[in-house]
Amino acid sequence: MHGPHLEVRVTSIVGEATTADRPRFFVGGAWVAPRGTEMHRAVEAATGEPLGTAALGDEADIDSAVRAARAAIDEGPWGRTTPGERAAMMLRFADALAARAEDTARLVTRENGMPIRLSKGSNGVVPPALLRTYADLVERFPLEETRPGAAGATIVRREPVGVVGAIVPWNYPQALAMFKIAPALAAGCTVVLKPSPETPLDAYVLGDAAIEAGLPAGVLNIVLGGREAGRALVSHPLVDKIAFTGSTEAGRVIGAECGRLIRRCTLELGGKSAAIVLEDADLDVPRAGLSTASFQNNSQTCTTQSRVLAPRSRYDEVVEVLAQYCRDRVVGDPLDPATSLGPMASEAHLHRVLAYIDIARNSDARLVTGGGRPAGLDRGWFVEPTVFADVDNADRLAREEVFGPVIAVIPYDGDDEAVRIANDSDYGLAGSVWTRDEARGLDLARRIRTGTIGVNRYSIDLGAPFGGMKDSGIGRQLGPEGLANYLEYKSMYVSAAHVD
Ligand code: NAD
Repeated sequence: MHGPHLEVRVTSIVGEATTADRPRFFVGGAWVAPRGTEMHRAVEAATGEPLGTAALGDEADIDSAVRAARAAIDEGPWGRTTPGERAAMMLRFADALAARAEDTARLVTRENGMPIRLSKGSNGVVPPALLRTYADLVERFPLEETRPGAAGATIVRREPVGVVGAIVPWNYPQALAMFKIAPALAAGCTVVLKPSPETPLDAYVLGDAAIEAGLPAGVLNIVLGGREAGRALVSHPLVDKIAFTGSTEAGRVIGAECGRLIRRCTLELGGKSAAIVLEDADLDVPRAGLSTASFQNNSQTCTTQSRVLAPRSRYDEVVEVLAQYCRDRVVGDPLDPATSLGPMASEAHLHRVLAYIDIARNSDARLVTGGGRPAGLDRGWFVEPTVFADVDNADRLAREEVFGPVIAVIPYDGDDEAVRIANDSDYGLAGSVWTRDEARGLDLARRIRTGTIGVNRYSIDLGAPFGGMKDSGIGRQLGPEGLANYLEYKSMYVSAAHVD
């Protein structure tokens, strides 16, 4: 096992302050002092050592950011830009972010424990790639079309929704912020981003890059804060849409408030996804696929396939493959490229995961491997990759999102029972089917009520709609469908002379 690096490094200087200390908010195109006085000390997930200080915003900070975002549309040049002009700015923004990719990846890894190999992709490569993708898409997107009608013609126009409040969690902070910022900017919206207090420092790289790219003042604003700041953003009268990723519990509260205010919202929420291993599966395939399906980002991923459904005919074999996979994991310093499993993002989250392990230990489920903190890693928030077999789908371990590396193996007899168990969940975000017969796997995949599902692999496609069914959310991000979320239809009735 690799021990975590113990020293605390200060990351490179970018913009006005180091990325390790950002007691400022990005409002109206500049770094401004917070209105409130609350400070937040970030700690490194692998060591528990101090990492930096950030300010926590309050209602007044959110108000000034929303007003800056509103002014950028109503008074600034942004509201009059063409898609081509916005695309050009987004490409400059992408270049400025790409130049910071390495630092950003390391910073997020230190904040939330994401293994560095994944962080380089998800925090370094994905955000500029999304900006470039949406810059390209908006130039080709049909924003205006004329249709012949009974009494003349109608110009069907798509206009920006307006000011977007983007609220994101700590697990993929840069990627999930850009899932919202890139389509919003392409559409012509402006954004107030509220990152999560568990990852307080990395979002400020976005502000530095926005300044370097020359984004007009107020187009992107960033205010760090906790739930109070989040609530102030959701309820602010000048916000037009909320784009939220986080827990189902918070999504319910936010969705209710958006309903009361008749405010548009997309909700990307939790999951308890099932991987179905069919009896004809070559077990080497799911074994290779587990790293993304069930353990990506230390299983702190909304799409984690934390229920593995195994056919009774090969049950012991599947349990042993999973257990051996876990025993082979390299748990330790997330900055070490050899590490496959880093720490949980925070001490509170570690205790939440350990509490679920205790709940399962006290049920009829059988602990096969793991079940506690790894020997020799008593600093930081590490937990062993853990497998419980003989889990009943009614058990809490099978119903509730753990958000850590704890897998429940559930036996089944026949395809129909596998489908029934997979669908017997409040959630519907992800899933997978593992079989030598891809056509059979696809047939089964069609029967699962979930927003995304893979056959013999699971990885998100940035060009395809992503989101959940049931309690996993409302609406879709990514792809052209993700851009449509930030556009509002307007029908303009004119004379027939407008039809070609
Ligand atoms: P969380 O819901 O506690 O917090 C998410 C964000 O919302 C944070 O910025 C938080 O400050 C803010 N927030 C919380 N309550 C709020 C409220 N009432 N009003 C306004 N803002 C509020 O979630 P978390 O613990 O940070 O993240 C983990 C959860 O996110 C998991 O449930 C996970 O499944 C989910 N998630 C979902 C997706 C997806 O795309 N479906 C992706 C990643 C994470």
